[in-house]
Amino acid sequence: MRPFQLLSVQQADEVAQCASFDDAAELTVTSPAQFLAGGTNLLDLMKLGVMTPERLVDISPLTAAHSAIEANSDGLKLGAFAHMSDAADHPVLRRDYPVIAQSLWKAASPQLRNMATLGGNVLQRTRCLYFRDTSWQACNKRAPGSGCAAKEGVNRRLAVLGVSEHCIANYPGDFAIALVALGAEVEIVGTSGQTRRMPFEQLHRLPGDTPHLETALRPGDLIVAFHVPAGAWTRRSLYLKIRDRASYDFALASAAVALEFDAQGVVQQARIGLGGFVAKPWRAHEAEAALVGKRIDEGSANLAADAALAGAVVSGENAFKPELGRRTLVRALLEAAALPEVS
Ligand SMILES: Cc1cc2nc3c(=O)[nH]c(=O)nc-3n(C[C@H](O)[C@H](O)[C@H](O)COP(=O)(O)OP(=O)(O)OC[C@H]3O[C@@H](n4cnc5c(N)ncnc54)[C@H](O)[C@@H]3O)c2cc1C
Ligand code: SF4
Repeated sequence: MRPFQLLSVQQADEVAQCASFDDAAELTVTSPAQFLAGGTNLLDLMKLGVMTPERLVDISPLTAAHSAIEANSDGLKLGAFAHMSDAADHPVLRRDYPVIAQSLWKAASPQLRNMATLGGNVLQRTRCLYFRDTSWQACNKRAPGSGCAAKEGVNRRLAVLGVSEHCIANYPGDFAIALVALGAEVEIVGTSGQTRRMPFEQLHRLPGDTPHLETALRPGDLIVAFHVPAGAWTRRSLYLKIRDRASYDFALASAAVALEFDAQGVVQQARIGLGGFVAKPWRAHEAEAALVGKRIDEGSANLAADAALAGAVVSGENAFKPELGRRTLVRALLEAAALPEVS
């Protein structure tokens, strides 16, 4: 690991002075200053030489101020510094927002969940082998303009939705898939000290011709909370994760589903997020629209899944993923529809 300066910040609005973040610059994997939360992704990438920050800003002193988990009639607020395990085991989330609790509980390992934060989790980097191994020169995400070794290489785990000719990396996380399905917002404190909110769906960017720009964040932007609006659908919700190993593995395909029925069992609202085979946390708007006004059965679930996967583009080894994604969504919809009514 290369030498770096370790700084610490005591208040969110002090971030700018602390690390001299450059307002004009883009936030990329090679930005000179990076926040350190649980460190489970960042330190990993520093050891691999993928990230080589000159300044690390330890934000753990902000934990007490930004880790509360609060629910009321308007919805849910999740402090970004809460540990994954705090949210996964929270009784209110397990009852009223099971899709969120399950997405966290099925992620990583108990040790990692105890260490990692919600904010760090949504910003984790792709597990694309060529991105993580600097002996490969061609990786547009790590070295813009260098090419993409994965397109013709080992790409079984990579994405089929949202990809571009410049990058087919998949977004690896689980929690973000639940957040995008439920229409969450992310709360950010910028280097000016001003707070702003944006739809979570806009936080991550598609690769296009700039795969090194992964989010809408600017250098020094600190995520402090996630806000999930209340809705009758959040209780009838689940997260289905398909992976090679039953635990401690990233998703090959996943679906976050939340449904609201009328008294006759007809869909009033459907919220669907997809993961594992997508370039960024993916809201399946077309599939949601296809379900409204219908009962959930094999036929309607398959039509919705067809709509969700219509734009899939495969790249060799990952040719099985559109079908796996389709089946994952169909199964998630049928399982969510069969859940008992929660009063
Ligand atoms: C073996 C292994 C298996 C895993 N399996 C899974 C899995 O199945 N599912 C899954 O979802 N994840 C999985 N993970 C990923 C793990 O969940 C992430 O490493 C973790 O959530 C990152 O959180 P952290 O707090 O440690 O972030 P850090 O590593 O500290 O930070 C990650 C990035 O986010 C930035 N950052 C952190 N907090 C903030 C903030 N508040 N505002 C702005 N920027 C911030 C940092 O600067 C850094 O760039 C796995 C990890 C490992 C090592
Ligand atoms: S898929 Fe993206 S991250 Fe992987 S090698 Fe290609 S450009 Fe790099």
